[in-house]
Amino acid sequence: MDYFLSEEQQMIVDIAKQITDERIIPNRAELDETHGFPREILGEMAQADLFGVPIPEEYGGFGGGCFDIVLAVEQLGRGCIGIGTAFAANFLGAYPILLSGSEELKQKYLPEIASGRKFAAFGLTEANAGSDASGIQTTAYLDGDEWVLNGTKQWITNGGEAQVYSVVAMTDRSRGARGATMFVVEEGDPGFSCGPKERKMGIRASSTTELIFKDCRIPKDRVIGRQGSGFITVMKTLDLSRPGIAALGVGLAQGALDMAASYAKQRKQFGKPVIAFQAVQHMLADMAIGVESARSLVYSAAKHIQAHPRDMSKASAICKTYATDVAMKVATDAVQVMGGYGYMCEYPAEKMMRDAKILQIYEGTNQVQRNVIGQELNKEYSS
Ligand SMILES: Cc1cc2nc3c(=O)[nH]c(=O)nc-3n(C[C@H](O)[C@H](O)[C@H](O)COP(=O)(O)OP(=O)(O)OC[C@H]3O[C@@H](n4cnc5c(N)ncnc54)[C@H](O)[C@@H]3O)c2cc1C
Repeated sequence: MDYFLSEEQQMIVDIAKQITDERIIPNRAELDETHGFPREILGEMAQADLFGVPIPEEYGGFGGGCFDIVLAVEQLGRGCIGIGTAFAANFLGAYPILLSGSEELKQKYLPEIASGRKFAAFGLTEANAGSDASGIQTTAYLDGDEWVLNGTKQWITNGGEAQVYSVVAMTDRSRGARGATMFVVEEGDPGFSCGPKERKMGIRASSTTELIFKDCRIPKDRVIGRQGSGFITVMKTLDLSRPGIAALGVGLAQGALDMAASYAKQRKQFGKPVIAFQAVQHMLADMAIGVESARSLVYSAAKHIQAHPRDMSKASAICKTYATDVAMKVATDAVQVMGGYGYMCEYPAEKMMRDAKILQIYEGTNQVQRNVIGQELNKEYSS
């Protein structure tokens, strides 16, 4: 389908597509097998200015919005959502600074992230605080001119690879959800370290580690926004970022459909290509319906979010939930269309199926997204 992209938007797609075809697809199997971090490929994305896409021009970026970054991320997702995740997590780290940071913080960090000179990460989750983020135990207190952080974040994408970490900590427990504050922690800050890389079912090209704060001291001005506004910034950040996860889902589903359809054309059984069997055609047709409807929804949601930054939650949750459920189903069906070959590591279908699962879990599980949509509907229909 033609989505009538502008010249600039088509250019973003073309650049991301070229990197995906020439660099990601040929290297994804090895990075998956070795849990290797795609440093070189990310470097090439930086050279192609992809890191600057959603960062305003005054901070060295391209000045695009949610829709522009969705276009880039979708292409990367078609190749490997592990590499796509390593890329997209930079914005999860940058958005708190962009949305709530002081001018000084923006000037200091955003140009470095936009150029890809520094990688960023976002630290919210802890061992006992996943969906219920209000349960975080990491604390921060002011000691003279420094904040002192203590606690451990868990499963943080780009952990150990990033230089800039946007982190949430409780600064006043008595205030509950209003007692959390966000900070920028830098690689090398005293008292800050990362745990070993987690071993994962999928998205193995992305690094996932703990962030460990032991009397970690950072300057007073590294606070992001007002003290106590941490969870508001967290929620806005995730609302803005989730269409990117949805776009990874659209890309992965497109990649799985492409592979399954071309396999079905060349695989012969009973004297004909298996695509000649209506049962196979119908599976492919349902996959195509899923991909195209998810893409249309994600594009519309991203445009809505770009135009209405104060009304992001429902559109963001709807597109994340739908597109990632489609990705899981299409990836599973691609394996089915390919039969036993789909199950073998020789083809990327099994990796896509393993990878797809995370999309329904991180940045808020799809159950929790349905809660968000339900709560928004409850508000809308209360009057
Ligand atoms: C590979 C990976 C990368 C990640 N990257 C990051 C990152 O960069 N930064 C970061 O901060 N976090 C990150 N996370 C954490 C991720 O966002 C959480 O795993 C996710 O929010 C879910 O939390 P949980 O795993 O603790 O699940 P839990 O909250 O323990 O949920 C368990 C189950 O209960 C369900 N459930 C929980 N509460 C409800 C409810 N109220 N209603 C209905 N169902 C509910 C969930 O849907 C799920 O099925 C990452 C996780 C992974 C696995």
